Amino acid sequence: MIVCPINPPTSGGFFLFAPVKVTRNYQFVNWSRNHSCRPGYYYQPGTENEIADILARHSRIRLVGSGHSWNDICLTDEAMVNLDRYNRILHIDKTNGTVTVQAGIKLWQLNEALDREGLALANLGSIARQSIAGAISTGTHGTGIGYKILGSQILQLSIILPDGTKVTLHHEKDRELFDLCIVNLGALGVISEVTLRVVPAFSLRDHTFVMHYEEAARYISEMIYEHDHIKMWWLPHTEYLVVYTYNRTDEPPNDSRFRQWFFDELLSVHFYRILRYIGNLHRPWRKPINRLLLKSFSRPLRRIEKSYNVFNVPEPPLHRETEWAFDLSHTHRLLLEYKDLIDNGPHHLNFIQEIRFTQADTYALSPCYNRHTVWLGAYNADNRGWQKLLGDFQQLALKHDGRPHWGKEFTVNSSYLQAHYPRWDDFKKLMLQWDPAGKMQNEYIKKIFYLTT
Ligand SMILES: Cc1cc2nc3c(=O)[nH]c(=O)nc-3n(C[C@H](O)[C@H](O)[C@H](O)COP(=O)(O)OP(=O)(O)OC[C@H]3O[C@@H](n4cnc5c(N)ncnc54)[C@H](O)[C@@H]3O)c2cc1C
Repeated sequence: MIVCPINPPTSGGFFLFAPVKVTRNYQFVNWSRNHSCRPGYYYQPGTENEIADILARHSRIRLVGSGHSWNDICLTDEAMVNLDRYNRILHIDKTNGTVTVQAGIKLWQLNEALDREGLALANLGSIARQSIAGAISTGTHGTGIGYKILGSQILQLSIILPDGTKVTLHHEKDRELFDLCIVNLGALGVISEVTLRVVPAFSLRDHTFVMHYEEAARYISEMIYEHDHIKMWWLPHTEYLVVYTYNRTDEPPNDSRFRQWFFDELLSVHFYRILRYIGNLHRPWRKPINRLLLKSFSRPLRRIEKSYNVFNVPEPPLHRETEWAFDLSHTHRLLLEYKDLIDNGPHHLNFIQEIRFTQADTYALSPCYNRHTVWLGAYNADNRGWQKLLGDFQQLALKHDGRPHWGKEFTVNSSYLQAHYPRWDDFKKLMLQWDPAGKMQNEYIKKIFYLTT
């Protein structure tokens, strides 16, 4: 572990002399527009010294990456810090397969820069709008039982603690502390730099097809070992699952521009938005609309494309999400019970439901801690009925000992979380040691660590 103090600017403070970008009474709204706040100060620092100075000046601070979390995790009314101006690539080491970046970089910026060098990240989630620091802080994940959450690609990270000390942790040499810090909910300090493992750029063979729901539920536990990456989408109120399988290949990309325009843009974005609008006029229409949408998958898709163009899907329309991580052994029962809940309940869903898989890991606050994981996400593009769906889904999730995605919606209390995270107390101890005054805390952090009812 490397520890060094960061010296804030000395000459009178940056408000007068330094070019740090600060906006007063900034209005923050998250991506899904269900949470907002008006912090007194919104900073966009460009150096570690400026970050340390901001930490020294305020008693309450929250970081925000791209604001792509569905809950109140970023909210604050005092100082909000965003690292969009602290987003450079610092070093690419092709021999050892590493890249070192400033933590504000967005995943899409990193993907493009790596591609130009013939490199890539080995695994990604569904979109690339997030900042690298924001993505790892909530345990963002992709899919593939041979792959862990995205933070597992990090080899070294630097955090500027609330007292201005910079701590640099290596994934092997500082294993104990490193495992506590990867999923950190923005509660330990400001992640300023990260070094990631990269691989030679690669293509994926995408084979997408539909399968009867019950058949897929029965065989999925075997199918996940037959493919590098596999995920399933359920168009609710239908009897079929759309199965996406992605496998690494040396063959060159062959995806046609026409298909990309017609399917990924026209159908998946514009036509889908029109159908969603119609479904919102009269909710019972959603059932036939979902059946119609399913028809667009009736011919299996086979294509080869650059990895990140396959992992990432077109930006979805506004919607709400809750997603939970379950022990892989629950997959079959969970899928059948979820279908039963939706088919026989009062819910009219107009959005895909998602099923993904990730490998067990050792990160204290990772929802995949110590167990191979199936993720089940309940999504809907309608605020009406959302609380009822969230409540019903949570009941099912608790019954199966689920752990919530930290960046999505959930309402469980601290006692439940403590019982489901074996290293909960270790994280809390570190949080209190590094941040005794609770500078990095907001209502979200207080709820999950202290609210027991
Ligand atoms: C359309 C869409 C698709 C998504 N797809 C996926 C997916 O495929 N898989 C998945 O797992 N999730 C997915 N998510 C959720 C998303 O990846 C997470 O919520 C992620 O944390 C958002 O990243 P962000 O940069 O917007 O972070 P924010 O939401 O802005 O912040 C998240 C957390 O990171 C902290 N943080 C940000 N920067 C720093 C820093 N420099 N230092 C310390 N803490 C920091 C914040 O304080 C906060 O606690 C998706 C979200 C959306 C809106």
